[in-house]
Order: sequence, then C-alpha cells, then structure tokens
Amino acid sequence: MQFYLATSFIFPRSLRLRLFTLCFIATHMPLLGYLAWGLATGRIALAEFVLLTLATIVGTGIALFGIGALLNPIHALADALHQGRGDAPLLPEVGDVIQTLYAGVQRARDRMDDLHQAAHEDPLTGIANRRGFLSALDALPAERRRGCVAIIDIDYFKRVNDLSGHEEGDRVLAAFATRLSALVRRVDLVARWGGEEFAIFFQDCIEDEASWTLARIAARMRSDPIGETHGRPISFSAGICRWNGEPLEQTLRRADEALYDAKQAGRDRICRAAPIFQEA
Ligand code: GH3
Ligand code: MG
Ligand code: MG
Repeated sequence: MQFYLATSFIFPRSLRLRLFTLCFIATHMPLLGYLAWGLATGRIALAEFVLLTLATIVGTGIALFGIGALLNPIHALADALHQGRGDAPLLPEVGDVIQTLYAGVQRARDRMDDLHQAAHEDPLTGIANRRGFLSALDALPAERRRGCVAIIDIDYFKRVNDLSGHEEGDRVLAAFATRLSALVRRVDLVARWGGEEFAIFFQDCIEDEASWTLARIAARMRSDPIGETHGRPISFSAGICRWNGEPLEQTLRRADEALYDAKQAGRDRICRAAPIFQEA
C-alpha cells in the first residue's frame, strides 16, 4: 500500500493508467541501459540495438495486454454494479476504490485497538482491569513468567462511601491506583481487580522484595494519606504469593487466602501465602 500511495502522483485516480506507465518504464529499462552504455563507450551495435528495441516493444505489448486483461474483471464488476444501481452516480475509478478501502481498513484497525484497550482497561482508574492483567501475564515470554502476585484490598472502604459519598469513594480508588502505579517499578503490573481490590505482579521478585515494596506503599499511605475515615488514614491489606509460571488460578487463590489472613489479623498489613507442603 505504501508503494501504491507513493505512486499516486502518476495518475491519481486511474489504477489502469498507473500500472501501464510503471510497466512501460520497467520494460524499457534494459533498452535505455544499453543505449546509455553504448553512447558512453561508443560500442553500440546497430543490429543489437534494433533487436533489443523490437524485443522491448514485444515485451511491453505482452505486459500491457496482460495487465489490461487482469484488470478487466474488476472493471466488469464495477460496470455490473453500476447497471444494477439504475441512475446511481458513476462508480469511482479502481484507484479511488483501493484508497477508500485502505482508509476503511486503517479506521477499522484503529477502532479495534480502541476496543481492545477499552476491554483491558478500567475506566475509573485508567489502569489495567482484571482481563488486562491476566492477558498481560499470559503474554509474557517464558523467562519472565516468574515473580510475585499480590492481591490488595482497601480497608473499610465501604465507610468512605457511607460517610463521604460515592464520588469521594471513586476519587479514593483513582488516587490509590495512582499511588500504587507510582511506587512500583516500570516492569511491575498494577491492575484493578474489581471493586476496591487491586492486583500487582512484581516481576522477578521474591516475597521479601514484594513485601518491602508494599510496606513502603503502606508507610506512604500513613505519611501522605489519599483520604481518611474516622480521622485515620485510609490503609490497605495485601496477600502475596510467589509465581513460577504455573497456571495462575492456584497462585491467585493462595494470594487471596493470604489477604484473608491479613484482614483477620486486624487489617493494614501484608501477609504471605502459606508454603505448599509436598508429600515426601
Ligand atoms: P474490608 O476492610 O473488610 O475490606 O471492608 P470494606 O468496607 O473495604 O469491604 P466491603 O466489601 O464491605 O465494601 C467494599 C465496598 O466497595 C462496597 C462497594 O459499594 C464499594 N465499591 C465497589 N466498587 C466501587 C466503585 O467503583 N466506586 C465506589 N465509590 N465504591 C465501590
Ligand atoms: Mg473487598
Ligand atoms: Mg475492602
């Protein structure tokens, strides 16, 4: 298509004339090359020149005839469509149709990109949603499918809604997403898991590193609160589980169980998934 657009200056609307022109130039290259070389060196031979000219004319004729024949069905189809439409305006040239089709394909591609982004992004916070998180992990190459997964839940979030209204609740959710994204590394992935729950994939981290990062975020929640309930800074609880590339369901379930432990233990804390005991 790039070449098609680049050559549009020759005959902007007629593909047939454009093809003929390009074909004419291409088939005359050997003849012109021979002529230039012959004139430069003075070694041009009349018999060879005549022979080459005749061969070029025959070759050009065959090429033009072939291209014309290949284009005939397209024009016949255009004519048939035009006749079927009675007094409809004349159909555009084939060149116009190709340009329009190309623009249509580009628009469809942009639209698909938009839809893909909308399906994988949480509109309130602008970060990945659950589907975006899972498909991003799914798309990781084998050597990067290891690290830690954390499930994070804002403590007593219902009170924010009840005491300050849903709008304030939405603001807190967006501020929390921004806080998490700002305090993890670029390779880590933050997502809104649903409601007031979030997930983070800490790439290539062991539990200690993921835990330190979350503790640093928790400290920031106290020193620079994103909001308050009953005069206390909003906090979160988290469950962490190591992931070594195995199917994610079990890892997510174990991270969720660790989160449950953190809630049970009083909230505002980070718990690690219990190790799996394997039978000897
Ligand atoms: P816990 O410490 O046990 O997690 O308590 P909690 O109050 O945070 O948890 P609970 O599950 O009782 O309440 C979660 C609330 O989050 C309930 C729901 O209305 C609210 N919520 C979920 N999604 C949204 C949202 O998009 N915007 C707002 N404003 N609230 C939401
Ligand atoms: Mg919750
Ligand atoms: Mg909660």
